[in-house]
Amino acid sequence: MSKSSRSQVITCKAAVCWGHGEPVKIEDIQVEPPKSSEIRVKMLYASLCHTDILCSHGFPFPLYPRVLGHEGVGVVESTGDEVEGLREGDLVIPGYVGECEECENCTSGKTNLCLKFALTFSGLMPDGSSRMSVRGQKLYHVLSCSTWSEYMVVDANLVSKIDPTLNLAHASFLSCGFSTGFGSAWKVAEVEKGSTVAVLGLGAVGLGAVEAARIQGAIKIIGVDINARKEEKAKAFGMTDFINPEGSEKSISELIKEKTGGLGVDVCIECSGVTSLINEALMATKPGIGKTIVVGATNEANIKVNSLYLLLGGTLKGCIFGGLKLKSDFPYLFDKYNKKELHLDELLTHEVPLEDINKAFQIIKEPDCVKVLIKIK
Ligand SMILES: [Zn+2]
Ligand SMILES: [Zn+2]
Repeated sequence: MSKSSRSQVITCKAAVCWGHGEPVKIEDIQVEPPKSSEIRVKMLYASLCHTDILCSHGFPFPLYPRVLGHEGVGVVESTGDEVEGLREGDLVIPGYVGECEECENCTSGKTNLCLKFALTFSGLMPDGSSRMSVRGQKLYHVLSCSTWSEYMVVDANLVSKIDPTLNLAHASFLSCGFSTGFGSAWKVAEVEKGSTVAVLGLGAVGLGAVEAARIQGAIKIIGVDINARKEEKAKAFGMTDFINPEGSEKSISELIKEKTGGLGVDVCIECSGVTSLINEALMATKPGIGKTIVVGATNEANIKVNSLYLLLGGTLKGCIFGGLKLKSDFPYLFDKYNKKELHLDELLTHEVPLEDINKAFQIIKEPDCVKVLIKIK
């Protein structure tokens, strides 16, 4: 592509959400060229994450019209003048928390929440404007990007360059859900060898948590889900015990305690996004030393917790993006994938072309569905 065409506005197809809970519509949209620190990406694959569904219902703010999608993989079509380390033809996956390696949070070693290339819920680029429009109307995106589009513009500091040898469909899954779960067990809970772990919700996020718990050397990994079909799937990732709480008189925390000699687990990771389960997760951990990690996003702002568990020394901690840092931590995930230690192939259960994106919202409810891959081209 010549320099001049790279600086042109591109008209392409994208999936636009026009209002609360409405089906998305495939529209011809305009995508502007990237500004100084930005790249324009030709999307190859995207996928559906639970957060996209929340966003179509106004999470965390009702921003419409909006091009959904924050998982995906694409090829750099053009770059802004100040972009370093990325060029046309490079393959990238978006993240939504950058890593400047200089700010107070980055240098603390305690969080991935970079203050410079920050997580944003504004649905806009870091400079407060949008590169996407439809019939002259501004389009919002999800977090830092909009992957359900043939082209998107994203800040170069909010992507990770990937090796072309990586399976591209699988790479899409690394950009949010699975990695979030993986990071929650690896980076946030710091699961120790020989420990016990419970994971609530065995979707892609939960399976990522199970995978990391296994790699970290957990001796018992208990998966909890009301979908019995998840048992076989989660075993492939390393789950040792399964609990289906449906039909049981006992609470989830009681069922987990039964499987751990009465004391509970060292680490419990809540991935379902069901707010009431946060307290169950907390009460399923060992008194005094248990860690409860909240991963699942929800539209409910308030939760009730048993304060005694906290008084006894329990930890209740949340995280975004599994505490993962784009520069420091993603090479580890890519390495594990290359060594065939990540079961990303097991996540892929369905695929749809972009024009059938609304089917993905139905497919995701099917009992055998883990991830719906969206083929852009
Ligand atoms: Zn930073
Ligand atoms: Zn996500």
